Amino acid sequence: MTEARVYNFSPGPAMLPEEVLSQVRHELLDWRQTGMSVMELPHRGKAFQTLAVEAEQDLRDLLNIPANYSVLFLQGGAQAHFAFIPMNILGGFKNAAYVETGIWSRQSIAAAQNYCAVDIVTSSKASHYTTIADEKAWQIPKEAAYLYYVDNETVNGVEFPYVPNSGEVPLVCDMSSNILSRSIDVSRYGLIFACAQKNIAPAGLTIVIVRDDLLKRTPLKETPAPFRYDLQAEQKSVLNTPPTFIWYFAGLVFKWLKKQGGVAEMAKRSQQKSQKLYQFIDQSDFYHNPVEPRYRSRMNVIFTLADENLQQKFIAESTENGLTNLKGHRLVGGMRASIYNAMPEAGVDKLIAFLRDFEKNHR
Ligand SMILES: *Cc1c(COP(=O)(O)O)cnc(C)c1O
Repeated sequence: MTEARVYNFSPGPAMLPEEVLSQVRHELLDWRQTGMSVMELPHRGKAFQTLAVEAEQDLRDLLNIPANYSVLFLQGGAQAHFAFIPMNILGGFKNAAYVETGIWSRQSIAAAQNYCAVDIVTSSKASHYTTIADEKAWQIPKEAAYLYYVDNETVNGVEFPYVPNSGEVPLVCDMSSNILSRSIDVSRYGLIFACAQKNIAPAGLTIVIVRDDLLKRTPLKETPAPFRYDLQAEQKSVLNTPPTFIWYFAGLVFKWLKKQGGVAEMAKRSQQKSQKLYQFIDQSDFYHNPVEPRYRSRMNVIFTLADENLQQKFIAESTENGLTNLKGHRLVGGMRASIYNAMPEAGVDKLIAFLRDFEKNHR
């Protein structure tokens, strides 16, 4: 790693692969001999279209996306799509089913309630979102537009170790913070979406992977055209101007991922990185993680200090040591280390060494 750079544990916008950042700098003024920056290319021109198609194909290869799914590169962060999802795929249903496992699912429920009735099939609110009730106990209605869940709750540090069984009801998933960190069987899903700024690219892009039959559902008439999934699928995401620079950046990250060994390799690394960190936290009585081990996130490791009064000191000293943005979410408190694909294992090793020293000096 270049000396000037720190290990950035931010939940998003998050650390990006240094190799990709260097490549972007290298080709910033003149992209593939076009005489202009990729930021200056017209989005319907041949040069950008070549890049766009390549990026989509690389993503399809990485996630093994079947041919009957469209891949959309859209604007709006994940939260905008909390509304666009019901707007696009309610399709005449009066209700949708939601799994409540943390702050992001709670927010998406609130957004959906503007458009339909929401059946909450299970909620782990009573446990302060530290576990997920067994799937057998969920109350999935027979009739629902879709079943929605959040694969990784970024704020609460909770991740699904399996794909829920939604029966005949299409499964919709927010994979904003763990997409491309493990293999998935896309055919189990009706729709997967992810904002870019956690595990893909800079902020400004949301990727939507949607099964083509869901695009036949009639959107609510007030759905803005740039956020109509059916129209954007028809027009290959250039109905209006897409976030071209982020699309390009995402494409470079997809190529980087392929070079690293794909999502299987990312799964191995994230298992390794998170296990180390949890093991260290668990053997200490100075640090604590409240999440039931089976549901602990490989991406966002939350922990508290036994003495809350040391928090400010912890943040100051970790930052001084080149370990930044470890402060937890304001609604949950404590600390959080976000360790997405771009976080090298050496960053986690350095964090563990810091945790050990801090404990020694302050207990
Ligand atoms: C960050 C995040 C969001 C919100 O993303 P925005 O792009 O800021 O709206 C939603 N869901 C999950 C799981 C996230 O991690």
